[in-house]
Amino acid sequence: MHQTTDAIIVGAGIIGSAISFELAKKGYKIINLDKLPDAGYGSTSNSCAIVRFHYSTRDGIIMAHEGYFYWKNWADYLESPDERGQAKFREVGMLMLKTRPDDYRTIESYFEELGVPFERWDNAMIQARLPLNTGLYGPPRLPSDENFWAEAHGTIAGATFTPQGGYVTDPQLATHNLMRAAEAKGSQFIYNAEVSDVRQAGGRVIGVTLKDGTMLDAPIVVNAAGPHSFIINRLAGVEAGMKIKTRALRHEVHTVPSPPGFDYEQNGVVAHCGDDGVYFRPELGNSLIVGSSDPACDPLEWVDDPDSYPTEVTTERWQAQVYRLAKRITALPIPNQPKGLVDLYDVTDDWLPIYDKSDLPGFYMAVGTSGNQFKNAAPAGHLMAELIAACENGHDHDRDPVRVKCRHTPHTINGGFYSRLREINEESSFSVMG
Ligand SMILES: Cc1cc2nc3c(=O)[nH]c(=O)nc-3n(C[C@H](O)[C@H](O)[C@H](O)COP(=O)(O)OP(=O)(O)OC[C@H]3O[C@@H](n4cnc5c(N)ncnc54)[C@H](O)[C@@H]3O)c2cc1C
Repeated sequence: MHQTTDAIIVGAGIIGSAISFELAKKGYKIINLDKLPDAGYGSTSNSCAIVRFHYSTRDGIIMAHEGYFYWKNWADYLESPDERGQAKFREVGMLMLKTRPDDYRTIESYFEELGVPFERWDNAMIQARLPLNTGLYGPPRLPSDENFWAEAHGTIAGATFTPQGGYVTDPQLATHNLMRAAEAKGSQFIYNAEVSDVRQAGGRVIGVTLKDGTMLDAPIVVNAAGPHSFIINRLAGVEAGMKIKTRALRHEVHTVPSPPGFDYEQNGVVAHCGDDGVYFRPELGNSLIVGSSDPACDPLEWVDDPDSYPTEVTTERWQAQVYRLAKRITALPIPNQPKGLVDLYDVTDDWLPIYDKSDLPGFYMAVGTSGNQFKNAAPAGHLMAELIAACENGHDHDRDPVRVKCRHTPHTINGGFYSRLREINEESSFSVMG
């Protein structure tokens, strides 16, 4: 006898857990399946968990600013306690350094229209707050480039500061929080359970089969498998019906000791500098986390098999990211041993996520989060729950996309923006910046 439920969600990362919570609140009986031993053990576990609003598209900004309010009111949103405690949102502000004076002009006009608070800082204000070098060195280069250490050829053009930016202290714990919240509404999470088949009959999905042969039946299956999303889409036979596809991209994030002036408690700002192609944020233990924002000089390391790829930090990536940051923070201590982590993004062709149905009735996907959707998990869960409920009630989402009223801001999330059938969105940054 197969176990039967209303909906199966493949994945218990931040996205699958958020969808579980939102669908359970609507009365669906949910089973989340994950091949790992606990919630948030996949790529979510290594997320930098930065909350920022600088997205290149208006829709991206709406989603990210809506997401901020969930993190700000995390305990209220969850409604349920977690015996491990709750993840904390550190609202330290986000500084986007500008290479040219008109950088982020469009984004700033969206901020004005959408009510995202921001300040324009000149270089003197930046330096009053943080000991950052305001020299202009770009475009970003690799240390192997003979001009890597060349003198500055000008100064940067100030920054946009969004005081509501920040980061979540523990992305894995945040996912566990969502799992407990979903369980309190009736969801069930089954671990060490690898989906090896998505079954269909009569032209719609009917359930999944696990690697050990166990069958689970449901009229709804949601792909929230993170960097494994393309594998689940292929099992369901829906990839050919998608104009926008997903694939896994290897990324490294490094850790360095905090230099003077970047005290964790007092100066914990998150920052991105396009001139260097790096971002950084404070981390407990008085260190900085440094990542690449995918400038043209950085090779894209596509991964064919998300279960088998190099998981050691490399000297090349470490030097590229840490040395570039050292130009911006001249007092940066550089340890002689690389330290950091390696994980995968699940990237779409235009680096914007897919939150959608598929051509197989009953099969949905929340995939292609492109290294930047941790912050958006709760509103994405809200969107997916509304979209699934509408489609299951016969709504034609492809023809008339579901629009979801935000709970915290006066805006609307347009489901059509996230369609698998969209043309490549040329407004995208085509990078982790979204
Ligand atoms: C290094 C790094 C830094 C990042 N920094 C940020 C940031 O600062 N801010 C931000 O907003 N976002 C950031 N992101 C992106 C963000 O973390 C992701 O968008 C988000 O965590 C994706 O969540 P997910 O639930 O889709 O994927 P995952 O957490 O990977 O969850 C998918 C789950 O599916 C399971 N699964 C896969 N295949 C199967 C199968 N066949 N059967 C059963 N289970 C399966 C996996 O085990 C996994 O647990 C970052 C990502 C990385 C990798």
